[in-house]
Amino acid sequence: MKCPNCGGRDAVEIDLHSEGFSAETSPVKECGTCGLVWRIKVVGGQNEVDIIKPAGKTTSS
Ligand SMILES: [Zn+2]
Repeated sequence: MKCPNCGGRDAVEIDLHSEGFSAETSPVKECGTCGLVWRIKVVGGQNEVDIIKPAGKTTSS
């Protein structure tokens, strides 16, 4: 699963709500590149990106 924000592949699964996901939602992932936290929800048979925390690494370098 690529990051939907930056396309990076450096995403890890994190476990915010371990009992909270079901067949309709995938585990929460965090991008190691841009900091985006998201998961995929299945809505009406379509995968939908559910942004939990916007990308937020403000390194001004
Ligand atoms: Zn990213």
